[in-house]
Amino acid sequence: MTAPLLPVATPRRAGRVVWAELRARPLATAAAALSAVAAAAAGLVAPAVLGRLVDAVDTGAPSVWPYVGALLAAAVLAAVLTGVSAVLVARLGETVLARLREAVVDRALHLPSAVLDRVRGGDLLSRVGDDVAKVAEAVTSALPQVASAGLTVLLTLVGLGALDWRLALAGAVALPLYVLALRWYLPRSAPRYAAERVAMGERAQALVSSLQGVDTVHAYADEDRHRAVVDERSGQALRITLGVFRLFTDFGWRMNRAEYVGLAAVLAVGFALVRSGDVTVGAVTTAALLFHRLFGPLGLLLFTFDDVQSAGASLVRMVGVADLDVPPAPVPATGRPVVELRGVGHAYDGPPVLADVDLVLAPGERVALVGASGAGKTTLAGVLAGALQPVAGEVLVDGAAVDLRAHVGLVSQEVHVFAGTLADDVRLARPGATDAEVAAALTTVGADWALALGLDALVGEGGQELTAPQAQQLALARLVLADPPVAVLDEATAEAGSAGARDLEEAALAATAGRTTLVVAHRLTQAARADRVVVLAAGRVVEQGTHAELVAAGGRYADLWSAWTARG
Ligand code: ADP
Ligand code: MG
Repeated sequence: MTAPLLPVATPRRAGRVVWAELRARPLATAAAALSAVAAAAAGLVAPAVLGRLVDAVDTGAPSVWPYVGALLAAAVLAAVLTGVSAVLVARLGETVLARLREAVVDRALHLPSAVLDRVRGGDLLSRVGDDVAKVAEAVTSALPQVASAGLTVLLTLVGLGALDWRLALAGAVALPLYVLALRWYLPRSAPRYAAERVAMGERAQALVSSLQGVDTVHAYADEDRHRAVVDERSGQALRITLGVFRLFTDFGWRMNRAEYVGLAAVLAVGFALVRSGDVTVGAVTTAALLFHRLFGPLGLLLFTFDDVQSAGASLVRMVGVADLDVPPAPVPATGRPVVELRGVGHAYDGPPVLADVDLVLAPGERVALVGASGAGKTTLAGVLAGALQPVAGEVLVDGAAVDLRAHVGLVSQEVHVFAGTLADDVRLARPGATDAEVAAALTTVGADWALALGLDALVGEGGQELTAPQAQQLALARLVLADPPVAVLDEATAEAGSAGARDLEEAALAATAGRTTLVVAHRLTQAARADRVVVLAAGRVVEQGTHAELVAAGGRYADLWSAWTARG
């Protein structure tokens, strides 16, 4: 509840980010801008032609058909240009948005867990979800309309001024009323849109936290209280949205008032000028049409203002995430480091599962970790690989507390094969790797079956089903490709005597050659080939030494070993 929200960028910063994207695409930007101006300008032709037509009738011209033809041509031209510009503007907007969305998703994925733990999960979710969707919607529908409406208003005002300054001036009486309406609206709306976005984030947060803890909620029959919290947040979001809507309607009334006052002034001044012979009836017709033309786009601007403002509120939230500092991944230590666990302890929700573990892996040493199921081997592997934060003690690499994930490669007991090609799955360990490097990694771990299938074979969900040993082999190939100085292998539970398991043992040896390595060994032949064996029982190191020493000592490991050899 007290966790802080993610930062929000200033509107200025968001503007800069968008501007930089536009400048990176000068051609597309120029085409969109020019087509929008041309479309708006084409819209001025029809009122001008209509004015001429009225004058032609007024002065008894022989035929009005040329005017009618021109009118039709103007309408077609305006329609075509408007369509073209809408497409160009929307496409440009989509491209820029795609870049921004990538940046947001990329940051969200790379945020260190230390940062993610401190912020509210729902806030990030609503930024990557709600906010991106809101901006996307504005870019495809509101942006082209706003660009076209804004330009139409601008060019129409220029046209009015060029037609007759007195008529333009008459229309300008509407201006103070507009300004008043805007000055009334703007300061009221911006904070409400921001509040709306925060309320949405909080609603998402309430939902996420209830759903994440749904087992606990059920266990304590706490559904009603959680529902009440979600309902309360939803109610609050709805109240704010309704408030925004009321405000918006009020604003509409103020704008309408400005419209009719202005039109009345143009007509009054116009016909006074006609009577004194200063302008033609056609000119007043054109002026009235132009003035009236202002209101369609102004109304649209007003209508989409809503979306634009709320998209703006979303945009600064997106840029806030995109701008987050992600600490650069530390460069892996080279060579074969010493890895040292000092007084490491760990507990999940209950009693400690690791206590006081002191363990030193010498440079390039291969240590096998053995012990009964539940002894804490996987937990220790996780701590060493930086996947779990120990509750006590520390892990040092060459004497330093480093980001372990950057130095230690982990092959888990259960490997997830991602949907996609074989090559992509291995390559996720080093995205820049070439096909040749991927193939070399597969060769190192003896995954001949993979090379036979082909790098482009589809695996994972929707693709080729892989066996557990095959998946492990892929994970070993990933390790080879990532080439970390330290390796942690959590061997899949042994299937005694199976050929796959023996191949895997060779693969593991090859993949970890030259690395400081900890192997959780279920197959004790694997332990026998290690430099040293460490026996874990109930979260504590109870024996360690070479295989031969421990067998000779006749302790716990010797028992495990004779049980293992007895199974044949
Ligand atoms: P091993 O790999 O030696 O079988 P583990 O490290 O997986 O042992 O488990 C050690 C103890 O911690 C076990 O009692 C297990 O039930 C418990 N444990 C493991 N993972 C979790 C977890 N994610 N949450 C809670 N308890 C866990
Ligand atoms: Mg385990």
